[in-house]
Amino acid sequence: MPLDLAPSAQGLDLATIAKERGIRYFMISFTDLFGYQRAKLVPASAIADMQKDGAGFAGFATWLDMTPAHPDLFGVPDPTSLIQLPWNREIGWVAADLVMEDKPVAQAPRVILKKLREQAAAKGLYVKTGVECEFFLTNSDGTQVSDGKDNAAKPCYDQQALMRRYDVIAEICDYMQELNWGAYQNDHEDANGQFEMNWNFDESLLTADRHAFFKFMTRAIAEKHGLRATFMPKPFMNLTGNGCHAHISVWDKSGKVNAFYDGSDEMGLSKQGYHFLGGIMRHAEALAAITNPTINSYKRINAPRTASGATWAPNSVTWTGNNRTHMVRVPGKGRFEIRLPDGAVNPYLLQSVIIAAGLSGINKSADPGKRQDIDMYQDGHLVKDAPKLPLNLLDALRNFDKDTELKEALGMEFSDSYIKMKMKEWNSYVSHLTQWERDHTLDI
Ligand code: ADP
Ligand code: MG
Ligand code: MG
Ligand code: MG
Ligand code: MG
Repeated sequence: MPLDLAPSAQGLDLATIAKERGIRYFMISFTDLFGYQRAKLVPASAIADMQKDGAGFAGFATWLDMTPAHPDLFGVPDPTSLIQLPWNREIGWVAADLVMEDKPVAQAPRVILKKLREQAAAKGLYVKTGVECEFFLTNSDGTQVSDGKDNAAKPCYDQQALMRRYDVIAEICDYMQELNWGAYQNDHEDANGQFEMNWNFDESLLTADRHAFFKFMTRAIAEKHGLRATFMPKPFMNLTGNGCHAHISVWDKSGKVNAFYDGSDEMGLSKQGYHFLGGIMRHAEALAAITNPTINSYKRINAPRTASGATWAPNSVTWTGNNRTHMVRVPGKGRFEIRLPDGAVNPYLLQSVIIAAGLSGINKSADPGKRQDIDMYQDGHLVKDAPKLPLNLLDALRNFDKDTELKEALGMEFSDSYIKMKMKEWNSYVSHLTQWERDHTLDI
């Protein structure tokens, strides 16, 4: 199917669709700067006006850079994103684009992604990505892995532990199949209590909407089963954290020709593919502020070896072939995988920052640098010239603040707001007195 960035909403009248499909309520949903999903539940009888004007929100009450004095914020549903909740078909979820005083809100993540894909499309480039959203199933207060028997030293692909959570995993996978996402595998991951469910890659906005919906669905189904699903980057210090790897390729408008593919290249990557990768490498230290957006994120990257033997997370800005110890892996011809993002990443900002950095690489014919074919966990010290990834959120934010090109590509209004709000979060964190400080300082 040819790639169409703005499929017509014509004929997608939500009130009519509601009657046809038995939808009683619409969830008009948006994702704020910190990745929280917010929604209004609107009865089908009121959806016709809301489809035009949007549902009203007070921006300050969410993680958006707004004050209580700002005018009303409207979430205008994008009817092409409609998903009828497979576990409750009387509800239709629709992703909304934020509007204020009739103008798109420049700091809104979904608005930013739409703008960046248009910039890519103007160059004939259509970005397709797949995301791997790892998560833990815990008890309902999130303090422990839910399955007490799931305690193997090397729990990855643990058949028995996977089957003890069959009810949850199969239910979610059935729903993904019903939604035609191309669900193809589910597994127990490298930490006790950790799982991953994979569906097919697609155009970046579609993947972002599915990513947002997947998190909502997984939490909802886990709760239904008396559990809790968490995508927190490092909920347990000794266990492997929740990554959110992204696989990336770029296609032409027909959606059939992969512009990253060059069969004659050793890695199967085209020149354009290398330049796009070059952009990711060049901006990596700064884009970590987006791909690893929380205080907790930095306990996943740069982490000491976990109980399973490896963290599976990167610590330096390096790339390689099919080797999982680097920030970027080229697992096969015509695509690469960025292993930096974690479970806290905002689904829309993840895609946005990939496109922003990649396009900058293409514009500047960026060179990704030398491929490193070593075990980074064992021999990382031998690579002298690779930048280290930021050690904490503060370093990442400072890197981002210095990267004017990346900030401008994402939009200055967004970038300034993001840095301001995240700095506040950092300051709130460091003003918190920890037990560690008491243990190490009380008797000094
Ligand atoms: P791994 O765990 O080995 O990194 P997974 O199978 O868990 O890989 O996830 C791979 C993801 O990459 C899936 O979402 C898949 O659809 C996606 N993918 C595969 N080929 C491409 C491609 N050419 N472009 C973008 N994404 C791709
Ligand atoms: Mg009110
Ligand atoms: Mg995977
Ligand atoms: Mg994984
Ligand atoms: Mg992966």
